[in-house]
Amino acid sequence: MQSSARRTGVMTDVHRRFLQLLMTHGVLEEQDIQRLQKHCYMVHDRNATVEKLEDFINNINSVLESLYIEVKKGVTEDNGRPIYALVNLATTPVSKMASDFAENELDLFRKALELIVDSESGFASSTNILNLVDQLKGKKMKKKEAEQVLQKFVQNKWLIEKEGEFTLHSRAILEMEQYIRETYPDSVKMCNICHSLLIQPFSFQGQSCETCGIRMHLPCMAKYFQSSPEPHCPHCNDYWPHEIPEVFNQEKEKEREEAGFSKSSKKSLRSRQQ
Ligand SMILES: [Zn+2]
Ligand SMILES: [Zn+2]
Repeated sequence: MQSSARRTGVMTDVHRRFLQLLMTHGVLEEQDIQRLQKHCYMVHDRNATVEKLEDFINNINSVLESLYIEVKKGVTEDNGRPIYALVNLATTPVSKMASDFAENELDLFRKALELIVDSESGFASSTNILNLVDQLKGKKMKKKEAEQVLQKFVQNKWLIEKEGEFTLHSRAILEMEQYIRETYPDSVKMCNICHSLLIQPFSFQGQSCETCGIRMHLPCMAKYFQSSPEPHCPHCNDYWPHEIPEVFNQEKEKEREEAGFSKSSKKSLRSRQQ
């Protein structure tokens, strides 16, 4: 019996291996996280009962707490699937980025972040970002250089570019949630259900009420509306006109996976990690 593995705050080799592998991947989708967990059990504790993923991660987080590190769950920006990342709660993203970027580049990121958080759509156009180049702290930057720096942010998974507009990468949202809440308390937008950050309300991340403007993540909303035949906004009670997504079903996903349908999602994960 591996009862110690199930006690909160006690990490075994299974948890440690899991953490190490998650660190090397940075960010993983839920089905890959489950595969990873299974793999770690196979390697270190073949006979133990596989802990429920949520308990397994809570257990790890209770140990990491004192280090201001956490395994956080979020959703991908392109299809709303659950993802997990190891995030550092102690450092602000800007200090974390400081080793890779110069002062004026970091300030460009702050300006872009501010535009993104302030916008209704969660996107900032490159034109609007580049218009602020003259106000940057530190060394003077030309617009051409700024364009290249923005691309560097995309490569480093801080930003995503879609048709000349920039938004936050889902990994960045996970990493920066705390920072964004503290820095932009008035303009930050939250999901009405889980109360965590929701940057893009018109995407695979979430939807927004046309009447009162509240936002909900797709997975949160799917669960919330699951049993209501006529969806109404939980805030203003107006009719919810948008299409309600299906609840993400872990069991169904597993079946698909076992039937060999997981290749495409693995591919998309890999392409995101480039
Ligand atoms: Zn939510
Ligand atoms: Zn409403």
